[in-house]
Amino acid sequence: MNLKDFLAPGEAAAATLAGWGEPAFRLKQLKEWAYGRFAASYDEMSNLPKGLRRRLEDAGIAPFALEVVERLQDPDDGTVKWLSRLEDGNTVETVLMRVPERTTVCLSTQVGCPVRCVFCASGRNGLVRNLTSGEIVDQVMLACRELGGRVDNIVVMGMGEPLLNLEALAPALERTAFGARHVTISTSGIVPGILRLAQLAEEAPQGAASRNWNLALSLHGVDDESRARIIPPHHRYPLEEIFQACRVHREKTGRMLTLEYALVRGQNDSLEAQRRLAEIAHDLRAKVNLIPCNPNASALAAPELRRCRQWLDGLCARGVQATLRHSRGQAILAACGQLRQQWQREGRPLSSPTP
Ligand code: SAH
Ligand code: SF4
Repeated sequence: MNLKDFLAPGEAAAATLAGWGEPAFRLKQLKEWAYGRFAASYDEMSNLPKGLRRRLEDAGIAPFALEVVERLQDPDDGTVKWLSRLEDGNTVETVLMRVPERTTVCLSTQVGCPVRCVFCASGRNGLVRNLTSGEIVDQVMLACRELGGRVDNIVVMGMGEPLLNLEALAPALERTAFGARHVTISTSGIVPGILRLAQLAEEAPQGAASRNWNLALSLHGVDDESRARIIPPHHRYPLEEIFQACRVHREKTGRMLTLEYALVRGQNDSLEAQRRLAEIAHDLRAKVNLIPCNPNASALAAPELRRCRQWLDGLCARGVQATLRHSRGQAILAACGQLRQQWQREGRPLSSPTP
């Protein structure tokens, strides 16, 4: 057990503390340290009695869910990537990206991933387990600690399929108390999960924080046949059903959908595909994020940069709001799942390119 999961609403924290004879305001103090001041050790919680700190420790409640085993910083763009060990020895990745205007943390939601897209390092060995809410929250806290303040944006685009662990993700996002428009959840297209997300948004209690989180769909192909070359069948839904679910999500949240499209040379980069992608984007009123395929995890590769730019221009010329993602943190294996995979292969941390 870690402190964030211990403090989860509806759990027994208040009762446990009362049972230890602690006054009610201790819970508030603990939450302030955990969420407001990003504390990672009981030592930091200076206004808590030493006896209580020891008692929490003795009860097996870890002050922080993550033990960083590797921290890499890209010397070019400042991207930081952590590999953290969890209570059961599994490892998980978190990335912090910085541009002058904003900071963005990229969260993992599962150890491994059951979807197993062919180009993705995270899914290489399937799912190991879901992360708990506390383990997700503490990735945000890790980034806040690094910055010495709150991170601006959260993207759920790290290891794992977020919509196959929504039970842990949704409460985690609520507890970090980020404005919903600063949060984006990326999915490979899990239809029941998209519909559940729409339902959660609709059912957000009056006066509570909005759950109108942004949605990004990993499209990667303009028809079921081309998607099938990248996403294996067991978790892949028919495109029409996915589009319908995305429309429902937009209706309930008012958010503009993002279509992520990993450009793979010879697989999905024809001009015909480009034309069809523009049609889909217009139909769904979505913007498009082109991602040149990162070759580290498979034999698939991106088209030449010139062709990627041509795709960007082509979409823009058709009136689509589109961006071409330039790969951040390349020097530190920042594509999801790569660092963990290398670490497992080598059985030891990599040495950091920066001191
Ligand atoms: N599981 C979720 C979120 C994590 S992956 C999802 O699939 O949407 C974040 C994005 O990176 C997804 O669009 C994913 O398809 C893409 N991605 C994964 N491996 C990649 C690679 N080698 N090259 C380019 N994009 C990749
Ligand atoms: Fe899972 Fe996303 Fe990787 Fe596919 S791309 S294997 S859904 S993490």
